[in-house]
Formats: sequence, C-alpha cells, structure tokens
Amino acid sequence: MSACKVCNKPWKLLFKKNVLNKYEAEYRYCEHCEFVGISNVHWLEEAYSEAINSCDTGLIER
Ligand SMILES: [Zn+2]
Repeated sequence: MSACKVCNKPWKLLFKKNVLNKYEAEYRYCEHCEFVGISNVHWLEEAYSEAINSCDTGLIER
C-alpha cells in the first residue's frame, strides 16, 4: 500500500503517466498535508539519466 512520504497516511492516486514509453509514474496527492509526489520511484534513477538526453519527461515539474 502506498503512503504519503510526509505524513505516512494513505494518499490518493491522481493519474498515471508513462515516462519514456517504458515506466509508469503514479502521481499521488495527500489530503492531509497536500503533498504531491510520485509513488513508484524505483525507476526514477534510470529514467532521470535518460531524461538528460530526451529532455521531455515532466519529472522536473513541481
Ligand atoms: Zn501527507
């Protein structure tokens, strides 16, 4: 089960977005502290290194 990284309570799934046509980012929102983040980040390191070249992943968005 996914939980907010800040207050550790269950957070809502906002939407999923494919990154590099390879990874699926789950954007989630916490109603308790209004934190927004990506829940499944195990692929982030690899995606980030590729993002330097592709330059279009949306990962830099806040
Ligand atoms: Zn929270």
